[in-house]
Amino acid sequence: MVVKLENSLIKEWDGYKGRPFLISGPCSAESEEQVLETAKLLAQIREVTIFRAGIWKPRTRPSSFEGVGVAGLKWLRKVKQETGLLVATEVANEKHVYEALKYGVDLLWIGARTSVNPFTVQEIADALKGVDVMVCVKNPINPDIELWIGAIERVAKAGIKKLAAVHRGFSSYEKTTYRNQPNWQLPIELRRRIPDLPIICDPSHIAGAREYLYEIAQKAMDLNFDGLMIESHINPDQALSDASQQLTPNDLKELLSRLILRNASPLDPKLLDILGELRQQIDVFDDHLIDLMEQRMKVSETIGQYKKENNITILQSARWEEVVKRAMTKGLAKGLSPELIDTIFKAIHQESINRQMRVMNNGIENHNHSEPK
Ligand code: PEP
Ligand code: MN
Repeated sequence: MVVKLENSLIKEWDGYKGRPFLISGPCSAESEEQVLETAKLLAQIREVTIFRAGIWKPRTRPSSFEGVGVAGLKWLRKVKQETGLLVATEVANEKHVYEALKYGVDLLWIGARTSVNPFTVQEIADALKGVDVMVCVKNPINPDIELWIGAIERVAKAGIKKLAAVHRGFSSYEKTTYRNQPNWQLPIELRRRIPDLPIICDPSHIAGAREYLYEIAQKAMDLNFDGLMIESHINPDQALSDASQQLTPNDLKELLSRLILRNASPLDPKLLDILGELRQQIDVFDDHLIDLMEQRMKVSETIGQYKKENNITILQSARWEEVVKRAMTKGLAKGLSPELIDTIFKAIHQESINRQMRVMNNGIENHNHSEPK
């Protein structure tokens, strides 16, 4: 079942000022001064609609700063009164929901470490029944779209109408440039599955470092995301959590001024918008194909190493026939032409053989392939 969303167009959300719908503020509320000073500067940035600050912080290790708790809700209320910004915080259980609502928090987000747990999400959804509040569901830390959709469905079923997904990247075992892998194909698939659901990108938790925020935010805009959640702190280097990924309000302003919003094109905005978004999707899938190909070739090389150590020939015809047959059956079932499958798999096979030859020859380049001399 795909959740049916009613009345959730982000344009109808409280305070909506246009795309990107911008949520900004520190990772954590640390003191009244830090919260209010940051909020006052952010309130001067046209795009900022919602002030965020974590009050209860899910930290990896227990000795880290775990948030100021309920005391911070008073500071958020003050932000609302003194700046006019709407306010947001993370909720991870029903008690958090009740406390936050008591203090008039406008938007609640369910964090990545919570959206992995259907019991907790259900507990939160039950606490939200009959409440008119904006809710964002961050993707679970692992790249599981069904789990993400499941969490969204639980909240939607509780009757929440102003509901959005937040893409904050996915944890991976490998050391990568970004703190969390964007795996853009997941939010794209989410858009395909639930077209009316607003999607907000959180470049801060994807990047993990200030220097990558712009490129991620721009990519999200090119993919036609509805909004951005970007962490901002008056003194990022001194922040008690996520210090390396937060921006000063001034740097946030500068980042926003560089963002190119494709749908602002004066030509045929609607067409350009659709084409631009589709082409970005193609780029994402092509990047994915290249990554997959690289991973496949690495496995081929490992097999080559094994063949070398055990004195086995590189070409194993029976195995190869099996590979092609399997790909053909699967590909045809998915509507791909036999020519496409044949061409691609022949090329992949040739590259695998070349790689294994190189391994056999101890890394000495194999020049037997078809390049003209
Ligand atoms: C946060 O927004 O500060 C946070 C803890 O995010 P996430 O759940 O994406 O890690
Ligand atoms: Mn954070």
